[in-house]
Amino acid sequence: MTLSLNCKDAGDPVCTHTMYGETEEELLQNAKKHGIEVHGYTEESWNGEIARNSDHFRKLIKTS
Ligand SMILES: [Zn+2]
Repeated sequence: MTLSLNCKDAGDPVCTHTMYGETEEELLQNAKKHGIEVHGYTEESWNGEIARNSDHFRKLIKTS
């Protein structure tokens, strides 16, 4: 089972990057790496964002 999350679905207007993971934990790790590398998040601002929107993010995760 692979979980995926599209950056665009997560609210970015232009980025079409898709993050994958075997588990939700792994997916969120990959999303964090992408957020920091591409979208200028810091470890701290990312954690804050996830903490505020965790329900929202979980709903966007697709399973295949
Ligand atoms: Zn992105």
